[in-house]
Amino acid sequence: MADALAPEDLPRALETTRRQLAGESPGAYELTILTKDRRRVLLEVNTRLMYDGETPVGVQGIGRDITARKRAEQQTAALLSVAGDISGTLDLGELIEKVQRRTAEVLACDRVATYLFDSENDALRLVSQYGTPPDLLASAKALTFGRDQLVHEAIEAGQSIVINDMADQPWLPAEVVRHFALSRLVVVPLRLRDRNLGALVAANTGDGPPFNSERTALIEGIARQLAVAIESAELFRAEREETAVAAALARVGRELIAVPSTPRLLDHLCQLSTEVLGCDCSITLLWQLQDDVWVPLSAYGLSSEEWEAIRAMRLPRGLFSNVLAALEQTDTVQVRFDQSLRTEVSPLAVRLGVTVALYTALRRGDELVGCQVAYFRGVPHRFSAQQQRIAQGIAQLASLALENARLVERLEQADRLKSEFVATMSHELRTPLNIILGYNELLLEGIFGSLNSEQHDSLQRIHKNTLELLELINATLDLSRLAAGRMPLEQQLISVFALASELDRDTADLRNKPDVAFTWDLAPELPPLHTDAAKLKVVIKNLIVNALKFTQHGHVTVSAQSRDGGVEIAVADSGIGIPAPALAIIFEPFRQVDSSATRRYGGVGLGLHIARRLVELLGGHISVESEVNRGSTFRVWIPIRAQLAQAAA
Ligand code: ADP
Repeated sequence: MADALAPEDLPRALETTRRQLAGESPGAYELTILTKDRRRVLLEVNTRLMYDGETPVGVQGIGRDITARKRAEQQTAALLSVAGDISGTLDLGELIEKVQRRTAEVLACDRVATYLFDSENDALRLVSQYGTPPDLLASAKALTFGRDQLVHEAIEAGQSIVINDMADQPWLPAEVVRHFALSRLVVVPLRLRDRNLGALVAANTGDGPPFNSERTALIEGIARQLAVAIESAELFRAEREETAVAAALARVGRELIAVPSTPRLLDHLCQLSTEVLGCDCSITLLWQLQDDVWVPLSAYGLSSEEWEAIRAMRLPRGLFSNVLAALEQTDTVQVRFDQSLRTEVSPLAVRLGVTVALYTALRRGDELVGCQVAYFRGVPHRFSAQQQRIAQGIAQLASLALENARLVERLEQADRLKSEFVATMSHELRTPLNIILGYNELLLEGIFGSLNSEQHDSLQRIHKNTLELLELINATLDLSRLAAGRMPLEQQLISVFALASELDRDTADLRNKPDVAFTWDLAPELPPLHTDAAKLKVVIKNLIVNALKFTQHGHVTVSAQSRDGGVEIAVADSGIGIPAPALAIIFEPFRQVDSSATRRYGGVGLGLHIARRLVELLGGHISVESEVNRGSTFRVWIPIRAQLAQAAA
């Protein structure tokens, strides 16, 4: 036979013959034959011994060419191992590296590289490589294939490029081939349905086997898998990015909502911007209409000297004209500060050594009212697309929060004005009312002459109504003082028993209902209280007055006992009770269970509100339990020592 057995397979052939001589039947096995034209052919052989009588004299074999089948099996195995590599990770860099290593192994080549289309520069750019010697790495990274190059055109059209003869090819300039010492090369597109992501390149520098159609088909198979994997990794990255953006904005939203006043809001906004964007510092500039300038109102990430210098700056509109014009169109503008331009562009940037700034619009409705600016100092990082989206979200949330804060401030101002007005009015009304009461009393006492019974009745009614009006005015005045925080605590040591006997005296006139039993039920050992006696008295008196007012039969009981480091005073009655839905509103100002009852029972719905505010001022709390037609119990708990801190709250 002119063909020869591949030398590495000789031991296996001899071993099989030895086993046959020993009487075994080894079955079919594989052998590689080298043909005359130097091809390697893989055979599946069955051999048997030839005998001359009893003596074995030779070996006869029948071989079947299984080269193609074996190659197909190897290719499938290679593709499966790539699939295994790919499914192991969603990290794009790691994924590409694994596939490159595997490609080099299965194609027996020295170098593998991945190029992706870079949309910004419209070129194929190296993103990863395997096997490039370190001294060639920089030049490999610098090598890009722009739209004007044949490689770019072919890959964009989805064509593979196979170069087995470097001397005769139109794709790569001779100096590139020389520089990278390339001998053979295959470039296949990373194709994904309707678009191309880039190319996978395999190259040899030495004398490796040529890239024939089989090997090209194999790398194309690998490239198809790689393209799908790149897309999945990118989708995964995009999803993670989306989650990160959402989480960052959720934090910003949550924290900004919690701050109601503008100065604190802006401070917080600067801190959040700096932290969430991971930049060096952040400043809020607001537009000051009357002077036609931008004013830095708040900052984070600056030293106190820097902030002192900056807060005094007034930046004329002209400095920002480009940025402002851009912000009219979009929400964020990124500016790199060129050393030579800096002074003209922004004295602020010069002062801070800013290299990159991201301006984000703060708007009220459609109107641009300010800018939130995030800065990198020193090293010129760029704000990524993700950071720009976060910045945009922050500014939108900040615009809303600013508007809210402005409304809150307006409301607070209106509320202050209202309280002042009410306080002044109430005060002014009290004097003439007291004069009316005084003269009325003189008339009733007959100082100005005797009265007939009709005149006496009329004066009695005037007296009663004037007293009610005075009570209302006093309550209103108390309320406005409480709202303005102008009701200081006057603490002294008091005994609950003394307080009870004062209240007993003060309410004696009211306890004139024959069917209502009024009782005190005080525990024998009650600790003295450090509290404001006058305020506590107002509270309990109010509860007793209400209980008597709303009870026609049965009892009103005032009890007191020690509880949880304080004293609980409960006023229980067997009166009309309060329906469950109304329990939540009776402590609100001017709220009554049924306003039609006002005519029957009197009152304006301020008593319980004032009582609750006073109890809170004393560091305690008030609660109620009630059942319609069975009665109500109001409980007031007061600490042994009224807390000054709570008084301030
Ligand atoms: P008012 O001046 O109307 O009494 P308050 O603030 O003291 O104002 O009470 C608010 C409302 O709560 C009353 O109008 C009444 O409807 C209800 N209320 C208060 N105390 C009692 C009670 N002991 N029994 C039944 N209803 C009560």
